[in-house]
Order: sequence, then structure tokens, then C-alpha cells
Amino acid sequence: MVAMQECIFCKISSGELPAKIVYTDRDVIAFEDINKEAPVHVLVIPKKHIPGANKVDKGNIELLGRLVYVASKIAKDKKIESSGYRLVINSGKDAGQDVLHMHLHLLGGRKFTWPPG
Ligand code: AMP
Ligand code: ZN
Repeated sequence: MVAMQECIFCKISSGELPAKIVYTDRDVIAFEDINKEAPVHVLVIPKKHIPGANKVDKGNIELLGRLVYVASKIAKDKKIESSGYRLVINSGKDAGQDVLHMHLHLLGGRKFTWPPG
């Protein structure tokens, strides 16, 4: 596991690394993805270091529900609420998870295909 001191998303949430922050509260922060895959591409993360979906437990279920809640609010702010959007959590190697700090991708502003690649 990546040590928390080395985690880029922990550094963004502490302000040590810059990011285009679009939302923040006590427990959650959201910022623009540095390499956008769609006109709207925002990452919503818990400020607390949770490595990924495998590490969801009874103590953080509510926090993770709030990621979806925050993403829906940002979708509204970005005016993609009615056109639609996709929420993605990549977990592990086969899904292509690169950053081992759990994050919810909010993607929108274009049409997506299904099944995903
Ligand atoms: P994943 O493949 O699900 O782990 O997604 C990681 C995402 O983090 C990718 O979409 C990257 O473009 C994004 N990313 C990596 N570093 C940064 C950064 N410093 N600021 C914003 N987004 C980043
Ligand atoms: Zn982290």
C-alpha cells in the first residue's frame, strides 16, 4: 500500500499539492481531473485515506454515500443533471485504478458507450 505521506490525493486534500477544487467540506473534497476524459471530469474523494473499494467497511459506509451525494450536487452545478453523467469507481488492476486513494469519477458533457472499454 502507498504510504499516506506519498499519496497524491492526501496531498491535494491537505493543500500540499495544488488542484482546481470545485467542492469541499469537512470530510469530502472534489477537484477537476488533471487529464479530462470528458468535458466534465471531476474526482470526488474522502479526505481520509481509504485505499479503495476493497477497504470500505461499516465505519465508512456513510462517508462513501456522501461521495455520490456530492457528485450529484456538482452535476447540478455543472448543468449535466438532465443530460446525464457517469459515476465510476475503479478498483484494482483490471479496472485500471492508478491512484490508491478511493475516488469517484464524475464524468459528463458527452455521450458514453456501454459496455465500457
Ligand atoms: P484511476 O485510474 O481511477 O485511479 O484514476 C486516477 C485519476 O486521477 C486519473 O483520471 C488521473 O487523471 C487523475 N489524477 C492523477 N493525478 C492527479 C492530480 N494531481 N490532480 C488531478 N487529477 C489527477
Ligand atoms: Zn490518500
